Amino acid sequence: MNSRRDFLRQMGGSALAAPLLSQLPTSAHTPADRQLRVALVGLGSYAARVARAMKDCKLAKLVGGVTGTPEKVEKWMAEHGLEKANFYNYQNYDDLKNNPNIDAVYVCLPNAMHHEFVIRAAKAGKHVICEKPMSVTVKEAEEMIAACKKANVKLYLGYRLHFEPHTRELIRLRQSGELGKIMHVNTYDGFRIGDPTQWRLRKNLAGGGALMDVGVYCINGARYATGEEPVWITAQESKTDPVKFKEVDETITFQMGFPSGAIASCATTYNFNNFERLYVIGEKGFVDMSPAFGYGPIKGRTRNGDMNLDTSKMHQTWQMDGLADCILNGTPDPNMTGEEGLKDMKVIEAIYKSIAAGGKKVLI
Ligand code: NDP
Repeated sequence: MNSRRDFLRQMGGSALAAPLLSQLPTSAHTPADRQLRVALVGLGSYAARVARAMKDCKLAKLVGGVTGTPEKVEKWMAEHGLEKANFYNYQNYDDLKNNPNIDAVYVCLPNAMHHEFVIRAAKAGKHVICEKPMSVTVKEAEEMIAACKKANVKLYLGYRLHFEPHTRELIRLRQSGELGKIMHVNTYDGFRIGDPTQWRLRKNLAGGGALMDVGVYCINGARYATGEEPVWITAQESKTDPVKFKEVDETITFQMGFPSGAIASCATTYNFNNFERLYVIGEKGFVDMSPAFGYGPIKGRTRNGDMNLDTSKMHQTWQMDGLADCILNGTPDPNMTGEEGLKDMKVIEAIYKSIAAGGKKVLI
């Protein structure tokens, strides 16, 4: 967890996270004419949200898109003032290498497509931001990291919460010792999924169910709440609708054991709503965030009362300006690299392995 520590130290140590965030991507830091020019890959609902958020960015700029739906091109050009020359489809995507007006792509495709489209972007010489979950297997995640290293491009995950003020404050409280030794973490995240025909319920596109989609926030959250990497996993699965969830998991509970002895008790579901919390208990204090992982506004309290931090921007505005600062200026990233995505993928694989073994403890 060194890069996150260094990043926060550089950001000013013990001051409140919110004012620091507003200091992060300033024009003083970067020449005004230097922006990270980004093309979104897969113009679905999340890409649309990122595009909206990027309208308020200073360091990152939306300049293009990659889509398999030709009708979307004109619509996106009109809505975001984009040039046709910066649009691609999934076949001519590799031609990005000849486009000097795009610096980075942001892969917002169904999970099982992340591997291919990150690697092709790297080969085209573009920096890559990839949505969560990073991939559908550990092997794929390793190949993505290797491809970006070989091409000498940056690879970041879309872990937007690492630029969100409550999450940053939680990490600061833990790092500064104000929470004392972390004893226990409780994380859960889920929602009731609708349309039974959507790709999220197809194993070949999603890789898995709730665990891959939102359970990854519980894993990542337990890791940033403890500042440790888990050494063992146990997991249990429950399925109430075997028809809808024929191919992917519906509800999973899992436990993560950390070297310090702390245990995270976690759960994720596609079967019910109002299920979103990150509760960290230390010897000297606690942070209780709910909602903790969605678009917010994130809310949290500590033993001193409500956290009341900045919720004025979309998470993706902070994220894209923050990552642009990392890429353009070499600012240390707050634990959003491909390596962080790989660590979460290793936990996901261990969870599925434990379930397949009837809940047996799996060492990582
Ligand atoms: P959508 O279904 O809304 O969009 C996915 C887009 O991918 C489609 O619109 C389509 O765009 C393209 N696509 C290409 N091939 C396929 C295919 N075979 N089936 C379906 N779509 C295809 O999904 P989301 O935008 O909700 O999710 C995309 C990614 O973003 C996922 O990895 C998800 O986990 C992640 N995500 C992250 C969130 C976060 O908070 N960080 C929140 C929501 C999602 P086109 O027509 O342009 O080709």
